[in-house]
Amino acid sequence: MSKFWSPLTASLVPYVPGEQPKDKTYIKLNTNENPYPPSPKVIDAIKAAANADLRLYPDPTCEGLIQAAAAYYGLPAQQVFAGNGSDEILAFAFAAFFDPAKKLLFPDITYSFYKVYAKLYGLQTELIPLDEQFNVQVDRFHSDNGGVIIPNPNAPTAQLLPLDEIRALLENNPNQAVVIDEAYIDFGGESAVQLISEYPNLLVVQTLSKSRSLAGLRVGFAFGSEELIEGLNRIKNSFNSYTLDRLALAGAVASFEDEAYFRETTAKVIATRERVTEQVISLGFKATESKANFVFISHPSIAAKGIFQQLRDRGVLVRYFDQPRINEYLRVSIGTDEEMDALIAALREIAGS
Ligand code: PMP
Repeated sequence: MSKFWSPLTASLVPYVPGEQPKDKTYIKLNTNENPYPPSPKVIDAIKAAANADLRLYPDPTCEGLIQAAAAYYGLPAQQVFAGNGSDEILAFAFAAFFDPAKKLLFPDITYSFYKVYAKLYGLQTELIPLDEQFNVQVDRFHSDNGGVIIPNPNAPTAQLLPLDEIRALLENNPNQAVVIDEAYIDFGGESAVQLISEYPNLLVVQTLSKSRSLAGLRVGFAFGSEELIEGLNRIKNSFNSYTLDRLALAGAVASFEDEAYFRETTAKVIATRERVTEQVISLGFKATESKANFVFISHPSIAAKGIFQQLRDRGVLVRYFDQPRINEYLRVSIGTDEEMDALIAALREIAGS
């Protein structure tokens, strides 16, 4: 606490990211990064962009990148927004669309940044409970709200909402912005991008951090009606008109040019996830049905916090949430096959089977 802080700063409880420890080398399965490197074409493009032009500001409109993303999804460029990771785009969306006079709705177990942004922008919230199996209950998202945000698949529960349920949500909420955060959609989900031509209130947010192995580059996108994209640009240009730097722009454009690499690495992550799910179940764990690049697991008789610590002692880092209802679960990112073999070996020892 400092006397120089505004009341807002003093009242904030900032988001705590997954740990990035430096004491030793861990098998890092705690922040849902992709275990495979980015496409070599991306690295080449970034190297080529590391030239004398760095003395110049980057293109404030991100035109080349927006055109590449628009072409990839078959959309007009006016329906695409690019930002510094999807976290930044989500922050812009909270400021641009959600009505502080009414309650913003999101699932009670979800990406914990939503609460932080709501606080930052002075928004009231109503948390809509997940059902017993951790499914998002779309029919409980009533229409008296100041906006809706849902990750699909949800985090950290990993479960997917089918597109017809998102459609139902949009039908029930024609007058508010509905944001679908698709950070993990490429690992087995069907994107709601195909619905944006029908619903002018739908904003779909995606990222290159997960399925494109570019968490370090900080690039995300939003897709929506022209009016929503214009709203995001108004907020962006009120903060900093140069959101993406020259290296990020070059690397991100190149990532859309290597579809084969993207498909191959994504398929590997999915195959490993399916195998690991079966193996943890055979060790006595239960797991939600994951359509993400992580699994959400729980043991009926061994406390999750203890498992977390024992894994850590063995050099395997996973995510534990000290939070009601999910404090018996661990979120485990999908690593390489070798990393997951080490995880399974450690869990086998811990579970004593
Ligand atoms: N949304 C969800 C649901 C996430 O889990 C994450 C990653 N922590 C993000 C958005 C942010 O991703 P990024 O800023 O790297 O694009």
